[in-house]
Amino acid sequence: LKQENVADSPSDQRFHQDDTPQGPEKIKAALVSLVRNTDLHGMRQTIRQIEDRFNHKFNYPYIFLNDVPFTDEFKKGVQDLTKSEVTFGTLDSESWGYPPWIDQAKAQDVLDKADYINGKSKSYKFMCRFQSGYIYKHPLLSELDFYWRIEPDVKYYCDLDYDPFKYMKDNGYKYGWNMAPNEYMKTIPTLWNTTKNFMKDNPELIPKKNLLEFTTENGEYNGCHFWTNFEIVDLSFYRSKEYKAYFDYLDKSGGFFYERWGDAPVHTLAVAMFLQKSQVKYFGDVGYYHPAMGFCPKDSNKLGKCVCDPHKEDEFNYGCRKRWDLV
Ligand code: GDP
Ligand code: MN
Repeated sequence: LKQENVADSPSDQRFHQDDTPQGPEKIKAALVSLVRNTDLHGMRQTIRQIEDRFNHKFNYPYIFLNDVPFTDEFKKGVQDLTKSEVTFGTLDSESWGYPPWIDQAKAQDVLDKADYINGKSKSYKFMCRFQSGYIYKHPLLSELDFYWRIEPDVKYYCDLDYDPFKYMKDNGYKYGWNMAPNEYMKTIPTLWNTTKNFMKDNPELIPKKNLLEFTTENGEYNGCHFWTNFEIVDLSFYRSKEYKAYFDYLDKSGGFFYERWGDAPVHTLAVAMFLQKSQVKYFGDVGYYHPAMGFCPKDSNKLGKCVCDPHKEDEFNYGCRKRWDLV
């Protein structure tokens, strides 16, 4: 063996003192967003903060998905802000559009009559269905074990000095969240009944130890939902036979179109049915704002550099945060 080859041997640890012999453990994870070309400037604002607060140290790649091709302006605009790898993808017609069993005239009638936010938007419904059942199946995500979903126009208030993907992996967490408001029930009149029917039809898929207490009061859905515009997920959860069965069941019922089911209550009810509390991580240290509301960690002095007012944006102001501690 020639001397200069010795250092290349994978078992040579001289240059990897803190790591495994193979080098640092690389988690297959990415920051992922379904986003419109018109959201370029909002997305740039988000990326600037993700980079400053976290990713300049970790260099996780970004994946952007769109129902139409990204413009060169969008691509350049986001790439200019990061040295990480950035990839862009479009969607196939199965994942974006009406599935064949949907009565499109009826769906149109529902759009025409809706009197709640985003109720008249067909694309909003395609978006919710895509985020519920297709995003993790996209070919660009096929090698990923974890994703962190990001959205345009949000604020990350605090430095994140550790790797949340590694934290989740090391501690067996499947789902991570940071805000949990109450759902507007007009958008999901039959979601809970459909979910109950699913549980009745598939009792073997529902573990005894679950989190239904978080979402259920007096036998009804209480509207508590993780706000999915931020979520960090072990994708084996969405790829599980339980989640697949649940999404397919909901999709067949047509509620993404005959009502306006959001991916947030869908993800949340799946977490509630299939996971237990020790598998779900509340990221209370990720100070965060998405248009309409945000929260500032109470002990932000201890938690490092946050730029927000914990009195104005108390995490306990919003919906179901208190309930989380009780279940
Ligand atoms: P809200 O958070 O419920 O108000 O919904 P948003 O309008 O923020 O949409 C959620 C995410 O989906 C954002 O990242 C949007 O850019 C994206 N999105 C929404 N509608 C569309 C669409 O028609 N096409 C694409 N490509 N992305 C969309
Ligand atoms: Mn949004």
